[in-house]
Amino acid sequence: MISANAFESSDESDFLDVVDDSAPSTCGAGSVWRLLIVDDEPDVHRATTFALNGLSIFGRSLEFLHAYSAEQAIAILREERNIAIVLLDVVMEREDAGLALVKVIRRDLNLTDIRIILRTGQPGYAPEIETIHAFDINDYKTKSELTRAKLYATITSALRTYEQIRALDDLAFYDHLSRLPNRNRFIKVIDERLASEASGDTVVAILDIDDFSEFNDSLGHQQGDRLLQAVAQRLTASLGSSTVVARIGSNAFGLMGPSGSLDPIALLDLFHSPFQVQDDSMLVTATIGLVRLTDTNEAGRGAIKDANIALKRAKKNRRGSFVVYTKDMGIEIRERVRLLQGLRSAVDTNRLFVVYQPQVMLGSGQVVGIEALLRWRNDDGRFVPPERFIPLAEASGLIIALGDWVLRMACHELVRIHALGLPALRVSVNVSQLQFRNPDFVEKLVKAIADTGVDASCLELEITESVAMEDPDFMLERFAAIKTIGVTIAIDDFGTGYSSLSHLRQLPIDRLKIDRAFVNELSSDILGGPIAAMVIELGRNLNMMVIAEGVETEKQAAILREMGCHEGQGFFYSEPLAPPELKDWLLAHRAGA
Ligand code: C2E
Ligand code: MG
Ligand code: MG
Repeated sequence: MISANAFESSDESDFLDVVDDSAPSTCGAGSVWRLLIVDDEPDVHRATTFALNGLSIFGRSLEFLHAYSAEQAIAILREERNIAIVLLDVVMEREDAGLALVKVIRRDLNLTDIRIILRTGQPGYAPEIETIHAFDINDYKTKSELTRAKLYATITSALRTYEQIRALDDLAFYDHLSRLPNRNRFIKVIDERLASEASGDTVVAILDIDDFSEFNDSLGHQQGDRLLQAVAQRLTASLGSSTVVARIGSNAFGLMGPSGSLDPIALLDLFHSPFQVQDDSMLVTATIGLVRLTDTNEAGRGAIKDANIALKRAKKNRRGSFVVYTKDMGIEIRERVRLLQGLRSAVDTNRLFVVYQPQVMLGSGQVVGIEALLRWRNDDGRFVPPERFIPLAEASGLIIALGDWVLRMACHELVRIHALGLPALRVSVNVSQLQFRNPDFVEKLVKAIADTGVDASCLELEITESVAMEDPDFMLERFAAIKTIGVTIAIDDFGTGYSSLSHLRQLPIDRLKIDRAFVNELSSDILGGPIAAMVIELGRNLNMMVIAEGVETEKQAAILREMGCHEGQGFFYSEPLAPPELKDWLLAHRAGA
């Protein structure tokens, strides 16, 4: 196990120099209190140091820094670290020199934890109460009040506040497990780097430990914590003082440094040897997303976001790899996010609707069914194609709710169609993988059927071939449950997946749907289309119905008919139609013309 002492090693002090300009005293700020005396009268400096000489407060002695003008004070405050208190003369070169300096300390130098004690030779220069609050001034005293006893009391109280502020900062900006800066602090550090001139060559990286939650679950949280500490230690020890290491998520580290010292390959190499975690030796891998600060438009938060985009890419490719962010990635992702937001609001504002495409018997031309297809008309009136928004809805999980809604709409529509005196028609509904695998799927299906009063045997679900072919045991069970209700199943886009024949034979499938790419292949001159022919033969041999989608010409319909394909669907018969047009179309074709 990593002892707390391991973090007090010499690497740490290097590291703190870089990472942390305001590290809390509890992690290495030294054993004295630093006081800055700002006064244009040398006598006041002497009197103050004399009065406080030899004192120890909360077990620490005092160290004095001296400035004789506001300008000098600013220079010292820029240079020196861990100054706890400024004893500040209100009237120096100018009447307001002291207050102007207070503003610089708080606003320009952004030193918020330093305690400020104002002093003045003569009463009547006291700042307004509002100023005292606005600039967090601890105390205001006339110089005559600064006897040893009073000074001691004033300074002790200021130091107590200072310690409390530092402790709060510590909580707000440090990760307690690793003693590293946390996400908030990391963002600040990046912002500071961006504000400085030196940001040109800087790289920000997120290093994510692969499958960490599995380690945690199998070995227990304590071991998980120790592993994180070991990783933190190896990172800080190997990366040297020019790189900032932070812990920005449960198993994610943020790194910032010059590109030369943040070489992703070298970083991944750090994971080639196991981590010693108590008695265990653990081998873990990490995945890294990186961004050059010059490639990100936004501040620290934006840099982390962009590095995260790269990280996600890397994870998608392969764990244990890295990806460097490019601007294109950001544009693409933001576009997706925008689209997804649009889709969410489309759900709320009824901009989604369902159209229905007729399906006919190739032999007789008789209408046998309709396929429900989802449509999204954007705010500007344009359609977003399902090929774009369905994958997005799938990736975000929104498809579960959407799919459920389409199912209900389709059932309602079919009930209306049956009421027109077309009782034999069926409706088929596309079901996405996530939706189909959802534990509640069958229950929701049963409920939709019950609520709408649709005849279950007229409802068909379209599952794509690739989905049907994975996880055979699960599919077998789910298909069986669906068949029990009386609902039929079609395999969509057939021919594009890699069906195992034995698996295909096991599943209770009613219909194979030849992918439209293979229908498209059926050229007008040659009676070719080997895949279409194969699918049709396969389906017939397995006692399944076969339907061709994307039938656009009479010729294609004729070829398919000749090949023995049972049914067809496509622009040759009808485009997908909104309910009113569908009703007209169905009534016009009811005789099976
Ligand atoms: P799919 O299930 O294979 O649907 C058939 C697609 O072919 C539909 O495209 C349809 O409009 C189009 N199509 C029909 N006839 C022809 C034709 O003769 N020629 C050509 N070139 N195309 C034809 P759409 O409506 O754009 O849908 C695309 C895909 O989006 C669907 O493919 C389906 O995978 C998915 N999708 C649509 N609605 C839903 C839904 O409610 N839920 C789910 N999960 N997916 C849906
Ligand atoms: Mg379909
Ligand atoms: Mg299809």
